[in-house]
Amino acid sequence: IVKMKGMNKYFGKLHVLRDIDLTVEQGEVVVVIGASGSGKSTLIRCANGLEEFESGRVEVHGHTLSPKGGNQQALTAIRKEVGMVFQQFNLFPHLTVKQNIMLAPKKVKNTPKTVANATAERLLDRVGIGSQADKYPSHLSGGQQQRVAIARALAMEPGLMLFDEPTSALDPEMIGEVLDVMRELAKEGMTMMVVTHEMGFAREVADRVIYIHEGQIVEQGKPDDVFDNPRNERTQAFLSRVL
Ligand code: ATP
Ligand code: MG
Repeated sequence: IVKMKGMNKYFGKLHVLRDIDLTVEQGEVVVVIGASGSGKSTLIRCANGLEEFESGRVEVHGHTLSPKGGNQQALTAIRKEVGMVFQQFNLFPHLTVKQNIMLAPKKVKNTPKTVANATAERLLDRVGIGSQADKYPSHLSGGQQQRVAIARALAMEPGLMLFDEPTSALDPEMIGEVLDVMRELAKEGMTMMVVTHEMGFAREVADRVIYIHEGQIVEQGKPDDVFDNPRNERTQAFLSRVL
């Protein structure tokens, strides 16, 4: 579903991503770990065209993004098929929970209101907050808001979901409920790329863990291999700090 080949990304002189080769297969859950500033967010943002890159290629769902933007058609197609959830929930404060979820399908896909409404209710039940549909985001807890954000992304029926530290802004007692929703999604076969510091989640849910150091993928493999027998000394040092 995702193919990155020799991808390089700069912010001015800063070489943030170096020769990234990365494939994500249908149904795979890939967890990206690494120190702050290593390029995790940038990597995931390159996977749906939120960031331009300088060289190499990125293919998502058969649409190819070329260096330095350019390909608007591919970009539009990719954005429709990729859902993204950020650390900050970014819900529209003046819309109710249900309206937040119905907005994109109505605007982008011209989904009839009754259909969008039914989908929203189904998704809210699925993330465990069916009873909050008519509330405004500010009246929900952080964990509930993040579950709304996930439901909102799912409403577009994405083929790929990107998560960038979805639980980092949450109080500890709310992290579990968001991870549970993600775990369910993974079980149902959703293709996912997840940046997280939740190593327990990574070990349990990931098919593959990728460790990034200074913009380079220095190690990847099955979670048990990466966590229990990291081969790269950078990975070893990182894990000894976080585990
Ligand atoms: P964190 O764990 O703190 O979220 P990260 O691994 O997600 O870090 P990135 O946000 O991808 O790291 O940033 C990688 C590098 O690029 C950092 O040095 C950061 O300062 C820099 N950077 C990120 N965004 C920009 C930007 N818009 N302009 C310039 N530099 C940026
Ligand atoms: Mg980040």
